[in-house]
Amino acid sequence: MSSPSHQPQSMLVTGGAGFIGSNFVRHVLATDDAVRVINLDALTYAGHLASLEGVLDEHGDRYVFVQSDIRDADAVRALFADHDVDTVVHLAAESHVDRSIDAPLDFIDTNVRGTAILLEAARSAWRDRTDVRFHHVSTDEVFGSLDDDGLFQESTPYDPSSPYSATKAAADHLVRAWHRTYELPVTLSNCSNNYGPYQFPEKLIPLMIGNAVAGKELVYGAGANVRDWLHVEDHCRALDLVVRNGAPGRTYNIGGNNEQTNLDVVHAICDLVDESLPGPAGTSRRDLIRFVTDRPGHDLRYAIDADRIRSELGWQPAFDFENGLRATVSWYLDNATWCENVMQDTYDGGRLGLTT
Ligand code: NAD
Repeated sequence: MSSPSHQPQSMLVTGGAGFIGSNFVRHVLATDDAVRVINLDALTYAGHLASLEGVLDEHGDRYVFVQSDIRDADAVRALFADHDVDTVVHLAAESHVDRSIDAPLDFIDTNVRGTAILLEAARSAWRDRTDVRFHHVSTDEVFGSLDDDGLFQESTPYDPSSPYSATKAAADHLVRAWHRTYELPVTLSNCSNNYGPYQFPEKLIPLMIGNAVAGKELVYGAGANVRDWLHVEDHCRALDLVVRNGAPGRTYNIGGNNEQTNLDVVHAICDLVDESLPGPAGTSRRDLIRFVTDRPGHDLRYAIDADRIRSELGWQPAFDFENGLRATVSWYLDNATWCENVMQDTYDGGRLGLTT
């Protein structure tokens, strides 16, 4: 399926101070001189201007940061008018599964109601325009869990397990409904687990790197769970392609074809940290691993069939997991101050999401 390409001029990126958002803002500004980026972020515990250091200096004529909330309908409407927005890339969300188990209503409010507010703002600003795009960034977790075989396709029925994935599923349905009902030119993508620079150190890979460096126990619930890991820069390139060349109303799965058990990931991190910062002779960071009770509702396996985006839009990942993880471990070793700054007063590295 081919579609006329869309050239963004004034792009509203929501959640652009988060992990994927900050990488995406850098990617877009570095690769297309014709785009202006308006980064709307509430700066929750997960959003940090430190992740955008240098962006304003380098691209200040084409980049604006606005601290605001996607749930504030008046503020969002004003942004569309003030900046003549023609493209939305919607990443803002409460994103951590364990936190969604502790505080599900916050997830409903931002992920579901916030998405509806953005859709309404786009609909009222754009009316019948077709030279516009609303891209919604979602997750493979909406599909639930796989057994040992099979892959998630775009047509796989939704079956979310956690409050996080249920709110992302609800948001996906809203985005499709605004396309079918109001003909809003939307695209969607459902991506597997991302890793790379600027990920808040509550997520598996940066958390384990930080704890391995500090010689703390590497506590994990279930080593057998399988995830399909994708480097964040590969995800950003995929998002950019979908925004420009995706067909309105269409969904694209994005994944690295890169399945790993969580235990293999933790082992690889231990070995890479040992390589850069050897412990006392005869010791290995692997000795720090401790298994504890798993999180409730933990899906066994996620794996993505990304054939559509490969064949229709010509995307392919540039990183293999070995090189990507090596580069990522080095980045966190070189950027310990960023980690300390973003975690200050908000997160102590402890386990979340155990309440049932
Ligand atoms: P993140 O938690 O690192 O960043 C989320 C950003 O959204 C933060 O900067 C936060 O301040 C902002 N935000 C939260 N609530 C807001 C609100 N009400 N108004 C404005 N801004 C708000 O998340 P991430 O890992 O970068 O994920 C970004 C998006 O990609 C999410 O929609 C997530 O569901 C999706 N996704 C993530 C992954 C992954 O592996 N990280 C995989 C697939 C899809």
